[in-house]
Amino acid sequence: MIKEKPDFDYNSIKRMEDMSWFTYAQIFDDLLIVAQRETNCFVWKTSDGLVVIDGIWPKEEAYQAIIRAITETGWDPDTINKFVITHGHVDHAGCGRWLVENHHATTYLSKTDDLFWREHPTKPDRPETWKDFEIDCYVKEGDRIVCGDKEITVIDTPGHTPGCLSYIFPVTDQGVKHMAALFGGTTPPRNNEEGVKVQKRSIEHFIQIGKEMGVDVALTNHTAFDNGLERIAYSRKRLAYLPNIYVLGKEGFERFCQMYRIIMEA
Ligand SMILES: [Zn+2]
Repeated sequence: MIKEKPDFDYNSIKRMEDMSWFTYAQIFDDLLIVAQRETNCFVWKTSDGLVVIDGIWPKEEAYQAIIRAITETGWDPDTINKFVITHGHVDHAGCGRWLVENHHATTYLSKTDDLFWREHPTKPDRPETWKDFEIDCYVKEGDRIVCGDKEITVIDTPGHTPGCLSYIFPVTDQGVKHMAALFGGTTPPRNNEEGVKVQKRSIEHFIQIGKEMGVDVALTNHTAFDNGLERIAYSRKRLAYLPNIYVLGKEGFERFCQMYRIIMEA
């Protein structure tokens, strides 16, 4: 039976802290996905080094999993030079401290969420999850983060957090160019009616910009919402003549985004 909506509940949130198990896959010539059970991040290869997009949980295990994925792919972790974050929640800012300390990565986030993260930690009773590194570059709607031969387009998509960002960037699959979009904050804010309205507007704005930029690849940073672990498992064993499961086409991108609307209503 085809399900109407993704499985996401209290246990999903608990599983975001499970650092006992990781997987990864090279899903494009220039893009890795690294995941634990519920949360994932990306590593993007550019002529100016590796860009880590989101950073799972603030545990050294998460950092080591990212480094292992890079090394096993045959890329060089010493070339990590940017850490780009969608929003100021602990499960995305994650292991940034090690990326900064060990690789001197330049960090990117919205100014709003840098302050939000400092003033409203997701786990106020747990200092080990509080902000523990500085943001070097504040980015906002329309900015382009230049990474050598490529760039990331920044879109403001507030709602999930007040300064949540989404990113659009090019990738290639066996040399063929595609445009990928990552929506930063999947779920609407809890107990916040105004925030829900803002989230609704952000979803439509994201879809609009995605269409204008010819997006045909949809990415998410939580595995529950796109059967992410199955997509990774497929990608790990994919044969070259089989289709790339992340390439949905332009109509497929819009259809995928329907998921964000369904979660809003749920
Ligand atoms: Zn979040």
